[in-house]
Amino acid sequence: MGCNYAALSIVAGRLMEILGREWVISERDLIEGYLYDETPEPIRPKPAEHLVLVKPGSTKEVSLILRTANEYKVPVFTVGGRTGLVGGCIPLKPGIVLSLERMNKIEIDKMNLMAVAEAGATLSDLIRAAESAGLFFPPHPGDEGAQIGGLIATNAGGVRAVKYGVMRNYVKGLEVVLPTGEILNVGGKLLKNNTGYDLMQLFIGSEGTLCVITKAVIKLFPKSRYMVTLIVPFNSRSDALGAIPEILKSGVIPLAIEYVQLREIMRAAEHLGERWLVEEGFAQLIIIIDGVRWEEVLSACDEVSRICESHNAINVLVADSPREQNRILKIRSNMYTAIKHEVVDILDVTVPPAHLGDLMDTIDKIAAKYNVNLPAYGHAGDGNLHVHIMRDAGSMDLVEEIRREIYMAAIRLGGTITGEHGVGNIRGKSLSLALSEKHIELMRSIKRIFDPNNILNPREYL
Ligand SMILES: Cc1cc2nc3c(=O)[nH]c(=O)nc-3n(C[C@H](O)[C@H](O)[C@H](O)COP(=O)(O)OP(=O)(O)OC[C@H]3O[C@@H](n4cnc5c(N)ncnc54)[C@H](O)[C@@H]3O)c2cc1C
Repeated sequence: MGCNYAALSIVAGRLMEILGREWVISERDLIEGYLYDETPEPIRPKPAEHLVLVKPGSTKEVSLILRTANEYKVPVFTVGGRTGLVGGCIPLKPGIVLSLERMNKIEIDKMNLMAVAEAGATLSDLIRAAESAGLFFPPHPGDEGAQIGGLIATNAGGVRAVKYGVMRNYVKGLEVVLPTGEILNVGGKLLKNNTGYDLMQLFIGSEGTLCVITKAVIKLFPKSRYMVTLIVPFNSRSDALGAIPEILKSGVIPLAIEYVQLREIMRAAEHLGERWLVEEGFAQLIIIIDGVRWEEVLSACDEVSRICESHNAINVLVADSPREQNRILKIRSNMYTAIKHEVVDILDVTVPPAHLGDLMDTIDKIAAKYNVNLPAYGHAGDGNLHVHIMRDAGSMDLVEEIRREIYMAAIRLGGTITGEHGVGNIRGKSLSLALSEKHIELMRSIKRIFDPNNILNPREYL
């Protein structure tokens, strides 16, 4: 769907009446910062020229924006913290860019262990609000500037998903605005709910194509009284990865099991002006263990160390102070940022966890075949690997070929092309590798039911 510029300017005028002039912005230099996300520059789609940025202050205003845009068939692109890695929030057609940054309140319900957060609050806001109530929000997708709406729209995962899962496992209720402007509430502060089709689960991960999320009820956990982070270096990757299924079978459920390689993690530390804590062993596991009793955490650490040692771990570094553990998490979270300027694409293929080693062996073969460097690290406990195609690949044709081979390797192992970042505006053409024609057809039908005029984040594959 295109956009008629006359319609866009009528809608902009109407929105000024609804929101006030201050919150309807058409000067390009003021909009520019809302038009990009963290997708590597070589593959980042170009935003459209004619755009109007709006910043509503309430769900009612979001509803009026969508109602008006729908009436004039003007596309609307919802932006969150713009930390996405697949260009999902980039407005590719002339239309309205919708930012919920003013809607950022968070209330904590201590008795029910839940937060009620407006969609424009950031991950950092939620972490702090939970902490100040003595509670804990476990997931940690690397960039704390991500907003609640974006985290839910992409069903984000990240470090610390092994024990409690991804965003989907935390969202209990949603307030959303449909493309037609209607406000819908689904779920609530409920742990059980079997009333009708679960539209809430459909909205989670729908990447802003079915609705604008305005508020969410999010499950919190009691603050772990004790948390320990282990860094375990190995000389061989297969030893490191071989230890993971043994740890998971042992009955210990760590919050996180991350796989990193020494060269990349040292670069991330350097990028932050820090030093990495363990400078030996090509392959390393970062394992986070939490619990309510110190003895319980210690015994879990002993068990994990024993398993790692039986897989030829060189050593086990134990970090138990919050300061040191935050430092480790920060360095791990900056692995992408540190190499971003050399990256052409960051993939997030996912396989059944026990097949991660097979996937990495195949990726080595692909790297050797094309004589390129494919740095990889990831959420190993979840079978989720970030493989980076670097600028040394040269031509975009070669990048395409390498990407396709990596995707096919994951699919052959029972995996999929994206476990975290989603489809956005750059993975649509690869969707048919992972999904059947029927699956894609059903997705298109669902999109038409919710968004008959295709105004909300229009995508070429839907
Ligand atoms: C350094 C770094 C590390 C990262 N690590 C991880 C990781 O470990 N795990 C992981 O899963 N991701 C990770 N990401 C990716 C990214 O942080 C997540 O995808 C995040 O959930 C995006 O949130 P956002 O608010 O920035 O959304 P945006 O990038 O602004 O938007 C993403 C999508 O959500 C839609 N959207 C945003 N807000 C709303 C709303 N209110 N209603 C409806 N749709 C909306 C947008 O239209 C778009 O389609 C990382 C990114 C970076 C830069």
